[in-house]
Amino acid sequence: MKRLYCFFLICLTVLCLPGCASMNPPISRQDFLLDTIVSVTLYDTHSQDILNGCMDVCRELDALFSPTKEGSDVYRINHAGGRPVAVDARTAELIRKSLEVSQLTSGAFDITIAPLVDLWDFKSQFPRVPSQHQIDEALSLVDYRAVQVEGNTVTLTNPKASIDLGGIAKGYIADRMRDYLLENGCQSAILDLGGNVYAMGKRTDGNNWTIGIRSPFDTQSQIGTLTVSDRSVVTSGPYERYFEVDGKRYHHILDPDTGYPVENGLASVTILSDQSTMGDALSTACFVLGPSEGEQLIQSLDQIDALFITDSRDIFSTGDLDFHKNS
Ligand code: ADP
Ligand code: MG
Repeated sequence: MKRLYCFFLICLTVLCLPGCASMNPPISRQDFLLDTIVSVTLYDTHSQDILNGCMDVCRELDALFSPTKEGSDVYRINHAGGRPVAVDARTAELIRKSLEVSQLTSGAFDITIAPLVDLWDFKSQFPRVPSQHQIDEALSLVDYRAVQVEGNTVTLTNPKASIDLGGIAKGYIADRMRDYLLENGCQSAILDLGGNVYAMGKRTDGNNWTIGIRSPFDTQSQIGTLTVSDRSVVTSGPYERYFEVDGKRYHHILDPDTGYPVENGLASVTILSDQSTMGDALSTACFVLGPSEGEQLIQSLDQIDALFITDSRDIFSTGDLDFHKNS
């Protein structure tokens, strides 16, 4: 049921307007990876091998970054008791980029959030609100400065610390899938990793892509559309994973200062960028920072724009976005 629901939401994401279908229809494939539905649609090639190869890139990186698959790089780092761990070069690169975003956001984005993610356990069938004592204990392990990367070796200087790449991995994987497609001569494609979209090139009719932005107030409908070419479009919102207790919603984006789900008046943040790695991390970070600090951060960065939607339904953006609100 959950998978069907995800699929429906993903179908909402990319609007292919009339004229998009050229003489040769696009080829497409959907797989359940990264704990979501990953969809690849290629418009200017009809090679099943390229389509499958692109999905293989996703599967291979999922196997490195998964915190739960025994033997993955992240699993080995988290179970090393503080000893140095040799990892794949791509894992080292992704962790390095995560630490850069932590520095840029003064720790609003922090991959050592893992003990808190485990404690809240949003995937549990019977989730519950942790006690303050448990939150304090997990919080004491959250500090990105405990992660050291030298070459392809990663060390957690606090042996009880652990990492979770859930706020950035989909973006990094989208970038590597894009690279694979470009290397194989495909330039017009839509990569959709559970709503983390990369719109490659332009449509085959030369027009830009139209990407639907999900309404944070009714996640089965769109609040509007963004028209883009060659851009990553990534949204973070409290509706992806959450549970409710006594009428209160607890969602999966956590404040590394308090240990609780972020509550700052933001309903969702969408980041547009060339690199989806940055887009994914910044969407999570801006959601933590809130509307005002988030906007300031994005304005300080070149070639990156954001669309903010607040709980009071205000919509504002940095830069000149081609956004159209649905009536
Ligand atoms: P999604 O992956 O659902 O599209 P995000 O990209 O915003 O949404 O990532 C949310 C995930 O990031 C959480 O499920 C958790 O694994 C991780 N996370 C939660 N809070 C933080 C944080 N403050 N910094 C870094 N990662 C976080
Ligand atoms: Mg993110």
